Amino acid sequence: MFCKNCGKEVDDDAKFCPKCGKMIDEEVIRNENQTDNNQKNSGAATYNTMSIVGFIFSFFMSIVGLILSIIGYNQAKKEGGSTALAVAGIIISSITLFLEVVYVIFYIIYANDIIAIINSGLPE
Ligand SMILES: [Zn+2]
Repeated sequence: MFCKNCGKEVDDDAKFCPKCGKMIDEEVIRNENQTDNNQKNSGAATYNTMSIVGFIFSFFMSIVGLILSIIGYNQAKKEGGSTALAVAGIIISSITLFLEVVYVIFYIIYANDIIAIINSGLPE
C-alpha cells in the first residue's frame, strides 16, 4: 500500500510510514468504507413517503404528483434516501400533465364540433 500522507510505498502491515513518520491509520480507512456501505444500504431500499405518494398520484393527479415528487426528491437528497422513485414520479407526472394539457387544448379547439356531432346524433 501507499502512505496516505506522502504517497511513499510502505509494507502492508506497517504501522508508521518510514519516510514521513505518519501513522498509517487503517481504522480510518475501515470506518470510511463502513460509512459508504451504510449509505448505500439505506439508499437502496428507503423511499420517503412523499416519493411514494407522489409516484402514485403522478398517474392520475399529475400536478399533485409532480409537487409531491419534487418534495420527495428534495427530502431524499437531504436525508440520504433513494431519489429513484421521486425522479420516476416527476417524469411520469410531467408526461401525464403534458397529455392533460394536450387533451384540454384538443377539447377547446374541437368542443363545438363534438357538441354538434352529439346533438346531430340525438333524436329530435
Ligand atoms: Zn509517508
